[in-house]
Amino acid sequence: MTSVILETLKKEYKLTNYEYSLMRKNSKIWLLIWTAALFSACVRFEDSFTDSIFVDEPELDPASELYPFDRWLEENYLKPYNLDFRYRMQDKGSDMDYNLVPAKLENSLEMAILVKHLWFEAYNDVAGPDFLKQHGPRIIHLIGSAAYKPALQTMVLGTAEAGIKITLYNCNELNPKNIDLLNEYYFETMHHEFAHILHQKKTYPKEFETFSAGYYDPSYWQERTDSEAASLGFASPYGSSQPREDFVEIIANYIVKDSVWWTDRLRMASQSGVNRDGQVVDDPLDGQEIIEAKIDMCRKWLKESWDLDLDSLRRNVTKRQLQIDSALIEGYKKIDEYKNEQL
Ligand SMILES: [Zn+2]
Repeated sequence: MTSVILETLKKEYKLTNYEYSLMRKNSKIWLLIWTAALFSACVRFEDSFTDSIFVDEPELDPASELYPFDRWLEENYLKPYNLDFRYRMQDKGSDMDYNLVPAKLENSLEMAILVKHLWFEAYNDVAGPDFLKQHGPRIIHLIGSAAYKPALQTMVLGTAEAGIKITLYNCNELNPKNIDLLNEYYFETMHHEFAHILHQKKTYPKEFETFSAGYYDPSYWQERTDSEAASLGFASPYGSSQPREDFVEIIANYIVKDSVWWTDRLRMASQSGVNRDGQVVDDPLDGQEIIEAKIDMCRKWLKESWDLDLDSLRRNVTKRQLQIDSALIEGYKKIDEYKNEQL
């Protein structure tokens, strides 16, 4: 059933991977980052849920081969969350500084189902059905390729703009069997970007910035190893770029990384950092104590500001990661049912 619908849908959705394959040749040397370059702290998005911001959207065409997927998106994103899930790459909504290609259709279908299962429904379970209706993004835009920054030797995984739009890159690498990559490329990114949306609306405690004060470096962070970053009290090297990235990296990593990862990260944090040349870098900080204190502060802030239980969310996401196969089967079945409306 799945392959039938994919084949029919694919006929209408052609793309080229030429540019992407050229870029991939050098991909191993790139470091992974998240960027909030487009993230503007001074712009607030406070729409009321009942006012659709997508009044100019064209009516769905039942004759289109993409109709079943578009109908499913309408029922599962547009109606409940007032959210436009954009899988057709749009020039006007894309960052023209990068050489980008569209997300493939099969990856877009899987991503739409997985984002619903692993992200929206996790917040629904823990924070109630109105939480994301009120605070969630209004646009999710899928891009097939990564966005490379050659000068920095980094790769952008996601961006959030003014609390309204989340762009996910590298969607053509989607592999639902690889949970580590799912988190690394997409879901950690979504929690990261959403935590930005939340702290834009309600600021986090200023005290958070004192834990690793003096060790933030927006231009050097990409040179830091995991070990160096951990020993300074950061969950990741990117977290050491600036306080707000630190804050959301703590939250995002806490939600998606398992206890094996965290045990290893805290062990690293309790020791001296080792740089890229294998040299020990001494610092006066107790990285483990700092990371644990940061997690505590994030936990308290989410509870008091948002009535959101960080540990419940983590448990829910962990449980859902084990249900990916059944979520995909169910999602494809629902999409396929909309073919009946075409007859
Ligand atoms: Zn960020």
